[in-house]
This record gives sequence, structure tokens and C-alpha cells, in this order.
Amino acid sequence: MKTALVCGAGGFIGHHLVRRLKEEGMWVCGADIKQPEFCASSADAFRLVDLRDTAAAYVCLDREFDEVYQLAADMGGAGYVFSGKNCAEVMRNSALININVLDACRKAGVGRVFFSSSACVYPLFNQQEPGNPTCAEASVYPALPDSEYGWEKLFAERLYLTYARNHGMTCRIARYHNIFGPEGTWQGGREKAPAALCRKVAMASDGGEIEIWGDGEQTRSFLYIDECIEATLRLTRSDCQEPLNIGSEEMISINGLAREIALIAGKNISLCHISGPTGVRGRTSDNRLILEALGWAPSSRLRDGLALTYPWIAEQVAEAGRMKTTELQHRGVQDTDRQR
Ligand code: NAD
Repeated sequence: MKTALVCGAGGFIGHHLVRRLKEEGMWVCGADIKQPEFCASSADAFRLVDLRDTAAAYVCLDREFDEVYQLAADMGGAGYVFSGKNCAEVMRNSALININVLDACRKAGVGRVFFSSSACVYPLFNQQEPGNPTCAEASVYPALPDSEYGWEKLFAERLYLTYARNHGMTCRIARYHNIFGPEGTWQGGREKAPAALCRKVAMASDGGEIEIWGDGEQTRSFLYIDECIEATLRLTRSDCQEPLNIGSEEMISINGLAREIALIAGKNISLCHISGPTGVRGRTSDNRLILEALGWAPSSRLRDGLALTYPWIAEQVAEAGRMKTTELQHRGVQDTDRQR
């Protein structure tokens, strides 16, 4: 039986990846500092470990796994990455994780290692207009990522490439562009734009208003989780040694995304623009290379993924509301008891 280790298996993409690898019949071990938030992991074994700790990484790499997927990182959406408040932690934590996991893979003699880089590696000067950003793989140098998160990803890409060169390892690198779907973080400050907007729309009443950071004209593209997993597996098992974009080319403004979600929710929503971290003005995936190398392109539209994601987040919002009501009722009873 083939074996895989998924680092970051308690997170959004890692959790979905474990499920897919299990469906393929592999023996899968998950590793993360936390368990998945929304439902139990389907991994055969799950190690609750802090991968910043070198010894913990070596414990996880206790066998010659056929495949290791390194997704663990200190990350979040614009509110977390672009506020400037978490830069030191983001760089330190993710760099330590990457160094530890990769070196433990080398020592264990792992077959293939996948690393999840990000579209955040691309230079700021190519993404200053909403209409025509450049994110072709080769445009990454000369480097000028717009966040420390992006700089750490770039460092880590080079780390994986040098281990491949100097230690003969098989490393595969994807630059993910905004992955979204059910069972992802939707509140708390680390959520990304699709989840945050789904939550805001779910909480708003019909005819109500939601807040958008900036003028909302900044553009992005978003890839549904199942598509991301399919492309990740194809890349990992391919002979492609260079980093590849994994994303969608269906570019949309944040205002447009909010309107799509409102349409799916069946609500009439107006947008109120406030100041907030927005990141680059324009960004979308360039899929020419991955299409050529792997024959992969997304098979569904943004709308299809949103139609699967919105109901899940709306249900989380409703459930949180029910829990709050129960708690208030419970407190009300306690207060009444105290008054007696
Ligand atoms: P996520 O935050 O849901 O998952 C990351 C996981 O890493 C979390 O479960 C977290 O607990 C774990 N982790 C953090 N510090 C750890 C530590 N010290 N030890 C062990 N585990 C630790 O993020 P995600 O959306 O699932 O992203 C997975 C990977 O893909 C990340 O590396 C991220 O940078 C990259 N990526 C994601 C996107 C996206 O749109 N989701 C875009 C670009 C790149």
C-alpha cells in the first residue's frame, strides 16, 4: 500500500487532500498543530505536533513515505497577512516548518515532496492595475513580493529547489491562487475573501449592506478546492521540476465576487466601501504552463464553486447564531436563578 504524509492536515487544503488520498486507497498520516475544525480527519494516523520543532518533524518522518505534502504554514487572508502586525511570526514560523519538514524528508528518503507556495510570490510592479496583472511563472524574478508572507514562500521555493539539486530529491512546487470551498476558515481574522464575503452576505438581511475593504475594484481569481486537489496530485506525480501556478484564470473584482455571492444567496445587497488591507490591485493565475506540462485547467466556473460554498458558510453562521441564543437563554436562566 502506498503511503503519504500530509503536513497541515488540520487546515483547509490539507484536510481535503487527506480525504482524496484515502479515497485513492493510500495509507495516510496527517500532521498538524491542531485537528481539523469542522469534521474529523480521515487520516489513518494523525500526529498533533508543532513542526517548528525539529525533533517533532523527524518523529513524523518515521518512514520512507511515497509522498509528502507540505502545506503547514502560518497564514491567513488579507486581514492577517497584509496588516503588517504578523510579519515576524509568519516568516519565522513558516521558515522553521519548511526547513524542518524538508530536512526530515531528506533523512527519511521520501519519494516525492510537494510544497505549497503562493501567488503572493509575484512582484508588486506587475500587479498594479486591476485589468492586466502578469503572473506567468517566469515573471517571479526580479523579485518584489508585496508581503513578507510572499518573501518567505519565495525563500522556501528556493530551499526545495536546492534540496532537489544538491540532495537528488524529487520536489514539486505549486503556486496556489486563492483556493476556496466548504470546511475552510470563515471567521476569526484568518479567513480569505470568498469566505469572508459569504459570511457577510449570510449575516446581512435582504436589502441590507455589507462592508468591502478598499474600493472593491481590486481583482483576483479563485479556484475551487476539488480542482486544487486534482491539480496538486497531478503535479506531485509529474516530472515537472519548476514551480507551476495552480489557479483559475477567471478574474473578477472583489465587488463582482460580492455580487455573485449575493445572487446565489438570493439577497439584494448593497456594498459599503471602507478602508482596510487590500493587497495588490490585480492578480490572476496564468495557466499556460500547467496546461502545457500537465494538461490541466479548471473544469468548472467560479459560480459553481460559490454555489457549493455559500450554503455551507450560511449554515455555519446559522449554527453559530443558534448556539449564541442557547447560551444567552442559559445565562438568562442562571441570572434569574441568582436573583431568586
Ligand atoms: P490553513 O491555515 O487552513 O492550513 C495550514 C495549517 O498549517 C493549519 O492547519 C495550521 O494549524 C498548520 N500549522 C501552522 N503552524 C503549524 C506548526 N507550527 N506545526 C504544525 N502545523 C502548523 O491554510 P490552507 O488554506 O489550507 O493552506 C495550505 C497551504 O497552502 C499553506 O502553506 C498556504 O500558505 C498555501 N496557500 C494557500 C492558499 C489558499 O488560498 N488557501 C493560497 C496560496 C498558498
